[in-house]
Amino acid sequence: MELIYLDNAATTRTDERVVEAMLPYFTQYYGNASTIYALGEESRKAVTRARDIIAAGIGAKPEEIYFTAGGSESDNWALKATAEAYKEKGKHIITSKIEHHAILHTCEWLERQGFEVTYLDVDENGCINPADVEAAIRPDTILISIMFANNEIGTIEPIAEIGAIARAHGVLFHTDAVQAFGQEPIQVDEMNIDMLSSSGHKLNGPKGIGFLYIRKGVKIRSFVHGGAQERKRRAGTENVPGIVGFGKAAELAFASMEERTARERELRDYMISRFEKEIPYVKINGDREHRLANNVNACFRFVEGESMLIMLDMKGICASSGSACTSGSLDPSHVLLAIGLPHEIAHGSLRLTLGADTTKEQIDTTVDAIKEIVAHLRSMSPLYEDFVKNQQ
Ligand SMILES: *Cc1c(COP(=O)(O)O)cnc(C)c1O
Repeated sequence: MELIYLDNAATTRTDERVVEAMLPYFTQYYGNASTIYALGEESRKAVTRARDIIAAGIGAKPEEIYFTAGGSESDNWALKATAEAYKEKGKHIITSKIEHHAILHTCEWLERQGFEVTYLDVDENGCINPADVEAAIRPDTILISIMFANNEIGTIEPIAEIGAIARAHGVLFHTDAVQAFGQEPIQVDEMNIDMLSSSGHKLNGPKGIGFLYIRKGVKIRSFVHGGAQERKRRAGTENVPGIVGFGKAAELAFASMEERTARERELRDYMISRFEKEIPYVKINGDREHRLANNVNACFRFVEGESMLIMLDMKGICASSGSACTSGSLDPSHVLLAIGLPHEIAHGSLRLTLGADTTKEQIDTTVDAIKEIVAHLRSMSPLYEDFVKNQQ
């Protein structure tokens, strides 16, 4: 059975060319990048190359890129270190209700440390209104953190508008761009972004490597204390193979961005149109226009997302659901609730995220499978039976 992998928002397959680029840095050029002998110089050069590629990709300077162990660390660093550095100025932070848990749980931790957080509402498509951001700014606001694109419903936020507002009010602006980096054009200067988080494994790079962009002049300090790596701002021996792999993945992603996302967009829209035409009582979540090229998120009424996932898995299809039964909680996704879906509908959600190598045949196989699964699950649902009766 062919595996159909449609969970690229959770993680991606590492590109063979990325693995190939990384391999010499395990066994051949294994020197510590901070040493002075020639072996270490090889590592140092490779790290510099990766940093240059990544910086160029977002219009930043190389010395503004700080490698971390991934998106979660970058998010934690940006929020906690800004709070620490600017607490004399104020203790108020603005974010949104649909952020990744790396942001939301960090904000909750900061609230326990005496900071105040405003969690902005979103509209029914998951869009943040820049006017709401502006209205939430107070004299003691030190940071605005709004994600570039949502990992569940794919909505792309008006980052340039929010950046302009933050700048006009002299408030720092951080964006979690883990889903957007390599997928959407990003320019930190034009968009007035002061800090930006990214992660290698979301763009066909390795896991456990990320970066935080910190604009020159932002005075946040180290979050991981120790050696003088990363311009004394992030201690720890450089993950040279990881950094090399991230650099290669970024290079490939930028080179293919236009063509790849155009292809994904077409397949995405094809999948959505088949859902809407062929399956009754389906609702597509997220903004239809400002949307990641590879994201499909749909609710199928009268079925459980978890049940669909299990049945899809039996057919070799990997997808994701917004209901988190497996994590021990029966609550549906905070994102689906924030866009106003009632619990019973949010429970029937499915997220399908395409990759560079997803084919039309795979989309067809998947839609056919979902059609069959939804019909089967509904045929066993007393709620659906009542609903259909009442329709007649
Ligand atoms: C995956 C993801 C993260 C976490 O990144 P890791 O590298 O897995 O720690 C943070 N934010 C968003 C939006 C993500 O999709």
